Amino acid sequence: MIKDGQRKSRGFSQIFSKDIAIDLGTANTLIWVKGRGIVVNEPSIVAKTIDTNKVIAVGNEAKEMLGKTHHNLTTVRPLRDGVIADFEMADGMIQGFIRKMNLSRIARPRMVICIPSGITPVEQRAVRESAERANAREVFLIEEPVAAAIGIGLDISQPVGNMIVDIGGGTTEIAVIALNGIVAKEAIRVGGDEQDRAIMNWFHDEHKLDIGYATAERIKIEVGTGYGSKLVSVNVKGRDMVSGIPKTMVIPPEEIRKALWETLQQIIGAMKRALERTPAELSADILDRGIILTGGGALLKGFDEILREETNLPVHVAEEPLLSVVRGTGMVLEDLKHYASIMF
Ligand code: ADP
Ligand code: MG
Repeated sequence: MIKDGQRKSRGFSQIFSKDIAIDLGTANTLIWVKGRGIVVNEPSIVAKTIDTNKVIAVGNEAKEMLGKTHHNLTTVRPLRDGVIADFEMADGMIQGFIRKMNLSRIARPRMVICIPSGITPVEQRAVRESAERANAREVFLIEEPVAAAIGIGLDISQPVGNMIVDIGGGTTEIAVIALNGIVAKEAIRVGGDEQDRAIMNWFHDEHKLDIGYATAERIKIEVGTGYGSKLVSVNVKGRDMVSGIPKTMVIPPEEIRKALWETLQQIIGAMKRALERTPAELSADILDRGIILTGGGALLKGFDEILREETNLPVHVAEEPLLSVVRGTGMVLEDLKHYASIMF
């Protein structure tokens, strides 16, 4: 058995006729092979030519090209805001990842694909057709919060309400799940990317300092909300917008909290809306059992504590939140019959 998430997809040998499960995330794509577990865990990035839109690389290879592109090569994230921003490139990315897996062309695989719950029927069809073009025999779609709940190990068939908050790159998806279905949901296009942007804007506006996305993400991961955790200042390297010269600043964590505050409030607001729409009986369950945070954004330091204060509910962070969805999608693949009612 491959250790979850550790093995890269490059350079591994033929996998014959295996059914696969795909977590098509806005930031990361993960693939589970039936009977084996996670075999792909790579960024949802495509490198393509500008003039002919030809896909040159996907995933890790495409990420390595980021920032090193030239006049006719660029990188895109086709699912950026939780919608398919670029259908052609989304298709290119799906084909690219599946091609990396060397699936047998003869025994056509079944595919379970997890999609953001906010995507439109047109987008759903695009994903389905893309998988069919990649030689799928049968395609099943499953919604992200449902997959996350299964991956976390909840028994969602029970008449008990569970609230899942999945904070990804482009979206935050919130769902109250009971009896194998979504009872109340809310999806917003605010997630980790928006937090990176908020940090960039903060430095731009408050310090006249230009910083890149990668730097903003690093600051976010290092400092988090600057709440509850040990408060340490952070070194930030950027380019002074007035002089044009690179400079380093030392920033107290309170500033990062201020920079992120708006995005955190948007997520909290969406959770409150989902709670308002939850029937009273299930609300009582959530009061007992609490909220489960998953997705990469669940790792934001101190966010669980802010949530506890804001909602007065117990808040749990999933173990390995970046893997919940692919695990859940994989579990569905391993037992399609059992989960028939939650796929479409
Ligand atoms: P998606 O499902 O949309 O592909 P993921 O669940 O893979 O998204 O989460 C990716 C997001 O999680 C990115 O915005 C990334 O910056 C963020 N992230 C990853 N680790 C951390 C961390 N330790 N603290 C805060 N954010 C994190
Ligand atoms: Mg996800």
